[in-house]
Amino acid sequence: MNNESDYKDIWVFTEIKDHVKVHDCALEILGKGREIADKLGQNLVAVMLALDAEQYISVIEEHGADKIIYMSHPELKHYHERIFTKIVHEFVEEYKPSIFLFPSTEVGNALAARIAYRCKTGLVSDVLNLELSDEYGENLLLTDKPAYGGNIHVKIICPNTRPQMCTITMGTFKKTLIQKATVEIIKKEFNHDVQSKIKIIGTPTRKDKPTSTLSDVKFVLGGGNGLVSKDNFNKLFQLARLTSGQVGGTRRPILDGWMPEHLQIGISGETISSDLYISFGISGAIQHVVGIKDSKTIVAINKDPNAPIFRVADYCIIADAKDILDGLLEYFTVD
Ligand SMILES: Cc1cc2nc3c(=O)[nH]c(=O)nc-3n(C[C@H](O)[C@H](O)[C@H](O)COP(=O)(O)OP(=O)(O)OC[C@H]3O[C@@H](n4cnc5c(N)ncnc54)[C@H](O)[C@@H]3O)c2cc1C
Repeated sequence: MNNESDYKDIWVFTEIKDHVKVHDCALEILGKGREIADKLGQNLVAVMLALDAEQYISVIEEHGADKIIYMSHPELKHYHERIFTKIVHEFVEEYKPSIFLFPSTEVGNALAARIAYRCKTGLVSDVLNLELSDEYGENLLLTDKPAYGGNIHVKIICPNTRPQMCTITMGTFKKTLIQKATVEIIKKEFNHDVQSKIKIIGTPTRKDKPTSTLSDVKFVLGGGNGLVSKDNFNKLFQLARLTSGQVGGTRRPILDGWMPEHLQIGISGETISSDLYISFGISGAIQHVVGIKDSKTIVAINKDPNAPIFRVADYCIIADAKDILDGLLEYFTVD
């Protein structure tokens, strides 16, 4: 147990995605961090490790940070568990943040777990909401985490150890532009021995993989396990071509080889904010719903009237998804 009163400020790990931009999830978290910092009368601090890190400072400043602690070095171009853990843990030891928030990404989850272990504190992963609560102690961070496929939500606090830490699911909060009048910039020198058991022999980036453009698409057709077969799923691609829409979907069709991985929507895929989203045979697991909830109109087709997707849909169609798909294909096919 550490002395809670020694700890203050709200920290956000501002991850750099593919060494080209600040991760959107980190920018979203800065917005929520700002709100919490204002309520507590404390500083919002962004922590960044990167190659040529100076290029990212302005965007972090625009999203509400009071302070940026950063390190810039070629060895920080790629996430390296040992190096990042050592450096960030040293920052924590030196400055003692009360709350430390991470994006729920591969890097964020891996790093947060290691930092929490070193600090002997708790960590809640894949959080879907945050608030301050006095219920179990003054101004404790109350996190909301889905469990059992989103069927229940649990509230978790970290009462006796610091920092209070969690990783936050992409799309949980909205990016907010808030520029503070003055932002304190602290550059730390990189003086770490990079000898490690892990040697990076190549530097592939996600740019080498097909990238999804789902986040900007106005009309998305979502396919799920309820489409039953690859042939039916192919019809979804056909309908998308006819209607200038784009196919996305759940994790299930990826596992079945019906759809490429980069079209996954949800907690570990893309977040969409389309004008129209039509789901075909999708149950509505929370891991999927977090990725579609910003769509303006959601139409759901499912044969089960109790399917959870109907709780978030604007229009609910209880039917066989294949029948609706066939009908739409017929309607849009020009003879
Ligand atoms: C750590 C983690 C991360 C995850 N990340 C994601 C993610 O990013 N995105 C994601 O989508 N999932 C993700 N998942 C998986 C998620 O939990 C669900 O398993 C998945 O979303 C379910 O996909 P589904 O709705 O297609 O399939 P199912 O759950 O099998 O649901 C199929 C639905 O189709 C309906 N149906 C069946 N036949 C028909 C028919 N003929 N006509 C109409 N309806 C029919 C059924 O009633 C059912 O509701 C993740 C899971 C974990 C544990």
